[in-house]
Amino acid sequence: MSENKETVISLQNIIKKFGDLTVLDDMSLDVYEHEVVVLCGPSGGGKSTLLRTINGLEKINGGKIYYRGTEVSSKNIKQIRKHIGMVFQQFNLFDNLTVKNNLLIAPVKTQKKNKEKMLEKAMEYLEIFGIADKLDAYPHQLSGGQKQRVAIVRSLMMEPDLMLFDEPTSALDPEMIKEVLDAMRRLSSMGMTMVIVTHEMGFAREVASRVCFLEGAKIRVNKDTKSFFEHTEDDRLQQFLSVIL
Ligand code: ADP
Ligand code: MG
Repeated sequence: MSENKETVISLQNIIKKFGDLTVLDDMSLDVYEHEVVVLCGPSGGGKSTLLRTINGLEKINGGKIYYRGTEVSSKNIKQIRKHIGMVFQQFNLFDNLTVKNNLLIAPVKTQKKNKEKMLEKAMEYLEIFGIADKLDAYPHQLSGGQKQRVAIVRSLMMEPDLMLFDEPTSALDPEMIKEVLDAMRRLSSMGMTMVIVTHEMGFAREVASRVCFLEGAKIRVNKDTKSFFEHTEDDRLQQFLSVIL
């Protein structure tokens, strides 16, 4: 990592409530360029809400969000969101479209980008992720791991500056988890900045630059990966790791 790390996203003292329930309680987080930040923690801790907040999908009750130094507001959020890709547990591919058309529909039909160029880009990514032979397949002809890799490529077609993943392997059978983790590992080695909610701690240890532990609407621990796993003094973190490791 260079010495002048550029901040891609900066969350400052974010408060998010659903009615009386405070889900993000004064959360601050900086994500630097080329960094892979893993978010973990028990269910209900606010991980998905935090990701949705980064993507401007949640109206916040307090705090500020900056994207590359510019404060995110209702005026610029649509523009900023174009730079952020998001991948969910469920793949949400269009069942009636081939892989090719799933990948081309947004850039070609909506954004009017050049079809040949976009197809070239799609092929490039499909090859990187080992699914180039699936170009003409329909989603029902793919395994879960293949579908998720197509979903990642679909997101990459928009040339994101930051990729957010919300438990991308949680819906997958064990033998398919590795394929998707490998795809994210590959993206990381290509320099993509990523924030990943996952309980795959082996992956976190190997790929993440930083790991955050969220619990009870707080980021209780936010450390570089090595320290995160070496110094687990936080009692709630200890408890969490003892259950999932
Ligand atoms: P995690 O992803 O860590 O499991 P979430 O961010 O999904 O946690 O949820 C945090 C808390 O916010 C939970 O108590 C959840 O029930 C609540 N919550 C999430 N989304 C909503 C919503 N749209 N309306 C009301 N409560 C919500
Ligand atoms: Mg969640």
